[in-house]
Amino acid sequence: MNIILFGPPGAGKGTQGALLAARFSMLRLSTGDLLRDAVRDGTPLGRQARSFMDAGELVPDTVILGLVREVLAGRSGSAAEAGVIFDGFPRTVAQADALARLMAELDQPLDAVLVLDVDDEELVRRLAGRLSCPNCGRLHNRYSDPPRVHGTCDDCGAALVQRSDDREETVRRRLQVYRDQTRPLIDYYVNANANVQHIAGDRAIEDVQRDLVARLQG
Ligand code: AMP
Repeated sequence: MNIILFGPPGAGKGTQGALLAARFSMLRLSTGDLLRDAVRDGTPLGRQARSFMDAGELVPDTVILGLVREVLAGRSGSAAEAGVIFDGFPRTVAQADALARLMAELDQPLDAVLVLDVDDEELVRRLAGRLSCPNCGRLHNRYSDPPRVHGTCDDCGAALVQRSDDREETVRRRLQVYRDQTRPLIDYYVNANANVQHIAGDRAIEDVQRDLVARLQG
């Protein structure tokens, strides 16, 4: 089973993708996470990507496609059998076309495009309040899910940080980029007769997860 988890920044793709990946033993491929790792490690790719990310713009397609190809080519073990959850990819028509070609090459189906719908004001509140743990990846939210100890990860005790692209003006730009360049892919997949499903993402994490699982099993 291969699925695309689709939706604006802050819709919950990372959280829901991680839960689905654990449940179905799938590989979660988040281009955002891969880019942040590259930025943190100071690799040539990270240096190339950083300014785009900090400005809330998309990283060029060629960079992203190289990254995705590398991960898919290197897959092994049980995650390979159970398929891939694409999180934050594709984000442009060129990326979607390239993914279709890649899946055809690998003889892999695209089973579903799951769209998490959340309205803009809620997204800004989620993103601008988001705190992430650089050590274990746990997410907190200043407003809706504050850590027990101020500024400290509940799970591992590391100091929480705000992602540099979660500042309010960058968040608004990211939402605009989503509307202009990424949201049109919903029609792209509808026109390609893909299995596109909309899920209300403005609910409790467990409720959204239950709905996603039901759609995948249904
Ligand atoms: P995310 O964590 O998915 O919200 O991604 C964070 C940032 O990484 C985005 O705002 C983009 O700058 C960059 N990025 C992640 N995935 C992609 C992609 N598929 N195409 C272009 N840029 C991306």
